[in-house]
Amino acid sequence: MSTERFNTQRRALIGRMQEKGIRNLEVLRAFDQIPRHAFVPHAVSHRAYEDAPVPIGFGQTASQPSLQAMYMQLLEIGPRDKVLEIGTGSGHQTAVLAQLADRVYSVERISELASRAREALDAMRVSNVAILVGDGTIGWSRYAPYDAILVAAAAPDIPHPLVDQLAEGGRMLVPVGSLQAQRLVLVRKQGGAVTSEEVLDCTFVPLLGRFGWADERPGG
Ligand code: SAH
Repeated sequence: MSTERFNTQRRALIGRMQEKGIRNLEVLRAFDQIPRHAFVPHAVSHRAYEDAPVPIGFGQTASQPSLQAMYMQLLEIGPRDKVLEIGTGSGHQTAVLAQLADRVYSVERISELASRAREALDAMRVSNVAILVGDGTIGWSRYAPYDAILVAAAAPDIPHPLVDQLAEGGRMLVPVGSLQAQRLVLVRKQGGAVTSEEVLDCTFVPLLGRFGWADERPGG
């Protein structure tokens, strides 16, 4: 498919995001700047600008763009923010975050996905992203605390290491519930107190790890 056709489709997607309540112009601009088709496998690149999850292999999906945008709008990510993302997946959301934030730290448990994401980010010369292969339910303590934390997979409960790694004034979004359906929970740390509020219904792939669902892989 031609770049021009992808550009037209991306503009249409931005329009659908606006219809779905995304009003933050910085967020819309960041989505417009990042070609989602460069992050999903070639076989599904014709579906890159559908407002839907797209399969990326290993039983995982690239998240629905309007939901990713809602995350960024709710978290009010600004140019000085240090952001932690759990579940790099395709790296598309990582790249959008890198446009909005100062630095992005992203953790992915499947090493093949992490290296594909790294390649796509490098090809786009995105230089403010660090990726770690490992269990994101324990966070990434080395660079903590974070102004914003985005969890892109469904947890049975809010993983407490992530709350610990939130900065004062920090915000986190995490889908919490069963394997089938979750509520997106917005957590805030203000004046040392932690509050949480449910914002919408959602469905994500499971967060597998020590403070997530049990990882059934041998050696996992
Ligand atoms: N935002 C990504 C979403 C990918 S789906 C995108 O748009 O492409 C969620 C990802 O979370 C999957 O890649 C999955 O492997 C990863 N994941 C699940 N449990 C994890 C854990 N404990 N630590 C890190 N990544 C995890």
